Amino acid sequence: MNKKAILILIILLSILILTGYTLFQISKSRTFQFFGGLTARINTNQKVVALTFDDAPTEYTSEVLYILAEKNIKATFYAIGQAIEKNPKEAKAIADAGMEIGNHSYSHQRFLLKSQSHIDFEIQKTNQLIRDTGYKGEITFRPPNGKKLFGLPWYLTRNNIETIMWDVEPDTYYPGNVKSITNYTIQNTKPGSIILLHPFCGSACEADRKALPEIVDGLTAKGYKFVTINQLLEYEKSKE
Ligand SMILES: [Zn+2]
Repeated sequence: MNKKAILILIILLSILILTGYTLFQISKSRTFQFFGGLTARINTNQKVVALTFDDAPTEYTSEVLYILAEKNIKATFYAIGQAIEKNPKEAKAIADAGMEIGNHSYSHQRFLLKSQSHIDFEIQKTNQLIRDTGYKGEITFRPPNGKKLFGLPWYLTRNNIETIMWDVEPDTYYPGNVKSITNYTIQNTKPGSIILLHPFCGSACEADRKALPEIVDGLTAKGYKFVTINQLLEYEKSKE
């Protein structure tokens, strides 16, 4: 190979790597996707905040519902279809408690490079399972692992389903640390924030469950009001 050919090869490889890296970054972006909107927080001057819990429901559902009832607040539960099938009573308890339920896919696999019919199954099957709990509100969607690229945003846009991300994710930075999860959340929440917690797994999620009442108390003391995702979206709309 002559020098020119090697140079061209190096340039092409660099472009390929850069494109791959860019697409990977976009796939996990909380604020940009190729089709339709993506909500990580909303712009408002009002001190409203939405608590969201991923990977519901499990046997820890009643513990979380108990805390919310004690604090007299509503939150949004992103449910996995398979988890609803495994824990139908817990799923119904979430609906009965007047909480908001969102769609977090059926099998919790990544949606990169999946066909439209596969995506349709994952979303519609889970929507049906959510409806079977008796839940009547609007159903928004949160991508499993926050991942999406072309197919998923395309499907959600065509079907008018809102994609909800988050702007405060304390357990990513301080897994297992109750005090740090609490302090980080209270310090980083802004008017219109969406907080992501994972209170539904076993011992790895215990810190999130323990931090939950502390977070609620801390933000309440700062004047925040807790709303569900659909209530939060109304604050943005009412400004227009
Ligand atoms: Zn998840």
